[in-house]
Parts: sequence; C-alpha cells; structure tokens
Amino acid sequence: KPTPETQIFHDRESQVASYCTEWPAVFDTARGCYQYSEDGTRYLDFFSGAGALNYGHNHPALRKPLLDYLTGEHVTHSLDTFTVAKRNFLEAFDRIVLGPRGLDYKVQFPGPTGTNSVEAALKIARKCTGREQVVSFTNAFHGMTLGSLAVTGNSMKRAGAGTPLYHASPAPYDDYFDGQTADFLWLEKAWEDSGSGLAVPAAVIVETVQGEGGLRAARMNWLRELHALCRRHEVLLIVDDVQAGCGRTGTFFSFEPAGIQPDIVCLSKSISGYGLPMALTLLRPELDQWDPGEHNGTFRGHNPAFVTATAALETFWTDDRLQRNVADRSEQLQDALNHIVESVDGAALRGRGLLTGVAFDDAEVAGKIQAAAFERGLLVETSGPESEAIKIMPALTITEDELAEGIDLLLAATGAVLK
Ligand code: PMP
Repeated sequence: KPTPETQIFHDRESQVASYCTEWPAVFDTARGCYQYSEDGTRYLDFFSGAGALNYGHNHPALRKPLLDYLTGEHVTHSLDTFTVAKRNFLEAFDRIVLGPRGLDYKVQFPGPTGTNSVEAALKIARKCTGREQVVSFTNAFHGMTLGSLAVTGNSMKRAGAGTPLYHASPAPYDDYFDGQTADFLWLEKAWEDSGSGLAVPAAVIVETVQGEGGLRAARMNWLRELHALCRRHEVLLIVDDVQAGCGRTGTFFSFEPAGIQPDIVCLSKSISGYGLPMALTLLRPELDQWDPGEHNGTFRGHNPAFVTATAALETFWTDDRLQRNVADRSEQLQDALNHIVESVDGAALRGRGLLTGVAFDDAEVAGKIQAAAFERGLLVETSGPESEAIKIMPALTITEDELAEGIDLLLAATGAVLK
C-alpha cells in the first residue's frame, strides 16, 4: 500500500523524468512567503520560484490590477500589437527603472521566459559584431534551449543534447579558485594572439551571482575589469540578470554597484512580479539591428504580465523600502549562515543579498538539509554542479519575524543532519 509520499510520486508519474523536485507535497494555495499543500500544511518558502516571486505569492497590490484587467475583458494576448497594458509597462519601466539610473536601452520582448532573453542576446550580439564565439564562465547557467545551453557550464545538463550549436569558450568565474580572483590576462592574450584558436568573441555573457551554479558571487572590481576588457576589444558584454535581477541582490539590476553599463541585459523571472511568464532583453540603442520579423514568437505580448509588472514597479521601486528590507534581511540571514559556516569544516558562505547560501565539502549534506528542512515546513533548494550548496532565496518582502522563523527551521534541519 503506498504511503502518502509514494502516492504523491505515483500521481506525478505522467510527468517526464526531468522533473525531479524533491518535495513530496501537492501545493495548492500561497500567500506572501508561505505555500500551503492541499492537506493544509504550511511551508515557509525560501525558494520563491527560483527567483520568479521576489515580491512573494499573490501580493494584493499586484493581484487587484490583474483581477481588474481580467474582469474588464481587456486584451490578453497580443503578439506585437501595441496595447495599453504594454504602453503602461514601457512608460513605467523607463520612468522608474531606466531613467533614474541613467541607463539608455531599447526594450525587446524576446519571448515568455529567461532562455528566450538569452537567445535574443546571443543572436543580436553575433549579428552586430559579425563574430561567432561567445565566452561564458565555469558553472554558468543561462537556460535550456540549445543556444543558451551552449553557454551553460554544466556537463550534466548538456550531456544528452549533443554538440553545442556554436563555439562557446569557458573562462574561470571570479572565486572559481575559492577566494582567488580569476584574472583576464590570459583571455586578453589569447584574443590578441591570432594563432591561439580563441578568436575575439562576439560577446561575453556573465551572471553577477551564479544562481544555479553554486552561488559564487563576482566581486564588483572583477565585473569592472571584465567590462573594461570587453570595451578594449569591442566585445559586447551581456549581463544575464534573469535570476539576480529585479532587486534580488539589493539593487534593481545586480550590476549597479559595479557602476557598469552592460551592452545587453537579460531579465525575466521576477519582472512580471507575479510569477507570470515575461522576459526582456535590453539592448544599447545602436544594437537594435533586428530586421522586421527576424526574432519573433507567439507569446511575447502577454498583457496580464505587463499589468502585474507595471504594478510591481509602482509598488516596490518608487521608494527605497524594499531595498532597505533586502539590506536588513540579508544581514540577518548572513549572521545565521555564518553560524553554520563556523561550525562545519569546509563550509563556505556564498552569494550576495537574498541570493545566498552555504556550500559544503560533502555535497550530500546540502541535499540532506533540504529534506530535513522540508520535514520541518521549510522549502529550500540546492545549487551547484554537485548540488553542494543550500540556496536561500526568500521573498524580498519577508519580514524580520518570518525570516527568523525560517532561520530557526534551517538551523534545526542543519543540526539534525550534522549531529
Ligand atoms: N539565466 C539564468 C541566470 C537563470 O537562472 C535562468 C533560470 N534558472 C535562466 C537564464 C533561464 O530562464 P528560464 O528557466 O525562464 O528559461
């Protein structure tokens, strides 16, 4: 006779084997930082849809305009047609995000999800430069379609897909050598040496924090040096802010503290603010060299997502309350994680802002903590090539008390695993 847990896995067997989520529960309702399974069990969510729910579940300030839009029978699907909802979003994005930061980008809606944003970035970079190669970094994650997979530094995820579609050359990410900066001297030398086989690339694509690849965080100076290297060689710098963007590290764009302006920025996950599919590719204006119809697709005009995206910008980005909360809550979290790091040999604190976690020498520890946390009502994911890090990414709106509750559960789970 199946236990409730095996029954849940049995019920889900019609899904492909790639869907391997470790949580044996059937989730039904959700509010703020909490999700509830159908049997009424409450779970504190330190996962936030892998960064798609930065403002928590079902935030009333987003739900109301969404419901108004739907009950008003406004246009839901629109491809490239201009709509009021799209115009409102573009106006708000310019006024609230780009303008105050002195950023000048053209906005592309590349398709519904993060990988579409990366594909558009890679394609336009190759078109504008007339070059082919793209440099990406060790343990990078940029998506699961063939172009973004070609720049993803994870052999397991690439294993069955065959040869990447074009040549992507990996370079060591900052902190790849545990605490040592990976410099760019060798890369620049190779680019300048026509016999090296490493031609000057079209672009370099980088995450400021490796959300899937183990939570290593690039230092601001390293990002500035990378930016300068790209400028010297007229190589386009693509920042993939799909996971680290929309406030996750404390500023709207994760690269802001470095004071750089990437040529191309990829955004998705929390841009709609409500877990609805939406993606943007931001291009320096002179890179808008698309011909009409050269990059299109059916679901790049999802108007309910424009509505919640606009509401999210108005609600969370017209004053600094959210940013202050991220700063305060990440400090609170780091104190607790330091406690774990100090008590476990070889454990390391990783990440930045509320995209953070602890990596363990023994990769199995992270998975065991994930399971022990679930038993206690806490949802945490793992990250890294061996899933060696526990990954903590609560809603950016989490209160001090809610975070304290989650920290207690996490410490209890860690204690039970490491006893
Ligand atoms: N880039 C980064 C940095 C990501 O974290 C992800 C998703 N984890 C993607 C791209 C791909 O986004 P999506 O899953 O929406 O295609």
